[in-house]
Amino acid sequence: MKCKLCGGNESRVIYKGLIRNGGLGKYTDTDVSVYQCKNCGVIWHENLLEDIEDYYKSEAYRESLEGGSEAERFYMLHDKETLDKLSYTGTSLYRGKVVADIGCGCGAFLDFLSGVAKEIIAVEPSAAYRKVMTDKGYHTYPYAGEAIKEWKGNIDVLTSFDVIEHVDSPRNFMHEVYELLGGGGRAVIGTPTDAPVMRELLGEIYEKKLLFSTQHLWIFSERNLRMLAEEEGFSKIEIQYFQRYGIGNLLGWLRDKRPGADLTGSLVSQTMDGVWKGQCSDRGLADYIVLYVEK
Ligand SMILES: [Zn+2]
Repeated sequence: MKCKLCGGNESRVIYKGLIRNGGLGKYTDTDVSVYQCKNCGVIWHENLLEDIEDYYKSEAYRESLEGGSEAERFYMLHDKETLDKLSYTGTSLYRGKVVADIGCGCGAFLDFLSGVAKEIIAVEPSAAYRKVMTDKGYHTYPYAGEAIKEWKGNIDVLTSFDVIEHVDSPRNFMHEVYELLGGGGRAVIGTPTDAPVMRELLGEIYEKKLLFSTQHLWIFSERNLRMLAEEEGFSKIEIQYFQRYGIGNLLGWLRDKRPGADLTGSLVSQTMDGVWKGQCSDRGLADYIVLYVEK
């Protein structure tokens, strides 16, 4: 199988079986082959979603993933991610800047930036969420390609978290980021890794129940993210790892062999959690990877 990302001729099947289809506990009806490229290292499977653009516009997507599509529910689930996102970007990037977030949902993260940013560009396929964000005064677009028509070369800071793994063409995604940014503009793009520690300890259980999903068409790593950024002509390319899930999550998985069974209580102290996250991040074994680029 030819690599769908770099075109390399050598890839191998690293998994064949049912994979997650939407939220936890929902699986595909048939086996799915997951491939890894020997050249660029990217992991992918064929797109099983019939019309991916329609799908992400739909209420069905949010229903399938989160059990609801209302704004309040979105905030309840996603406000808590803001501190992580600010830890990836820092806070000094945004003041007085034209800021765009691609795949922003209902704008939970943007709400925390809107007090300092000059303009907020919110790119989100869901029409229901766009309406809420338009009412907040954000410039909203369903896709980056639409935003480019009005903001090409005028974005100072672009963020996009948990999006690039969903798109049909990551190369096109990077190109759109490049087009949107002005000279000297910066982008911060975050995506889950293949969570190497969890895979080593849990193998196929973890792969089936969480890691591989119909909605994530790709799993990236440092090598292929750098490749995409270099090909697009970005400069000052940097990569950082962040461990999102705590030690209680790992221990819960080991105990119950399923997600959502986090271990809490006296064993899981803040110190222990901090050491676990720090080790994973420092050694490139973390569950999340962030790409920093400048145009
Ligand atoms: Zn490849």
